[in-house]
Amino acid sequence: MDEILGEFFAILNSMGKHKKSLLALFLFFFLGFAALLFYKKDLQKSTAEKKVLAINVSPSPTPIPPTPTPTPTPTPEPTATPVPKGYCLNVPVIFYHHIQPQQMAKDKGQTSISVDNGMFDLQMGYLSSHGYAAITVKQLVDALIGHSGVPAKSIAITFDDGYKDNFENAFPVLQKYHLTANLMLATGLMGGPDYLSWDQVKQMAGSGLFYFTDHTWSHYSLGKGDPAKIKFEVDTARDQIQQHTGQTVNIFTYPYGTFTPQAISFLQQDGFVGAFSTLPGTLQCDSFLMTLHRTRIGNAQLSAYGF
Ligand SMILES: [Zn+2]
Repeated sequence: MDEILGEFFAILNSMGKHKKSLLALFLFFFLGFAALLFYKKDLQKSTAEKKVLAINVSPSPTPIPPTPTPTPTPTPEPTATPVPKGYCLNVPVIFYHHIQPQQMAKDKGQTSISVDNGMFDLQMGYLSSHGYAAITVKQLVDALIGHSGVPAKSIAITFDDGYKDNFENAFPVLQKYHLTANLMLATGLMGGPDYLSWDQVKQMAGSGLFYFTDHTWSHYSLGKGDPAKIKFEVDTARDQIQQHTGQTVNIFTYPYGTFTPQAISFLQQDGFVGAFSTLPGTLQCDSFLMTLHRTRIGNAQLSAYGF
């Protein structure tokens, strides 16, 4: 170290006065520049800290701007979706529960299973103006069984459970656009405070715009697996729908979207040829006729769902 310093001073001494002042000037600017860099870094840090502080002590939170398009209901949790194989058709089957004013849904705590009737009108108008063909789920099941086609841009509109707002709010809109729909009825609930009456079911059937599927008698989960109870639930609903509408019932819709291999084989032995789950997707195949897929629709334009 002493040697290096000695060398340095030797060089310094050998320099002319002019060179020495140049070196001093260089060192002066170099140190000044370094100091400036340090200061700037520190300044940035303190502004960032000040910003964080400002957010924390802000007396009123920044209002969230209203979103022009409400976000759709979150898609159902991912489940084992079968790999498409066999004869397949790309037909969206969309599903609804309540169709009622958003405020009413809020008051009744039903927002997660409700679509505002104004939004429903927009959605149906969209299907109508974009050339969609609203088909019955029977048309879809028949086409999959028979390996035949469905009209271009086919879509199936479905309503689960049988709520009375389907008659009051959805039915007039479907009539307005002349769209066919499907009602998945839990027949034991008909006539209850929030549900359709059998007279309303009859009127809907009489319009020719509705196809009916079995959704059990008491909205019973087939995942529970009690064979005798399942038979009672499924057969009672089928008999009641046939009796009140005159329509043959051989398509099923799983309450809560739950099913088991045992339930599927019971349904098949009982004469059912197709069944709807809540597994998401628009591709329908004859390899999963007993767990066909549906798309849950919420309070957003249908274009938000890719239609
Ligand atoms: Zn249901």
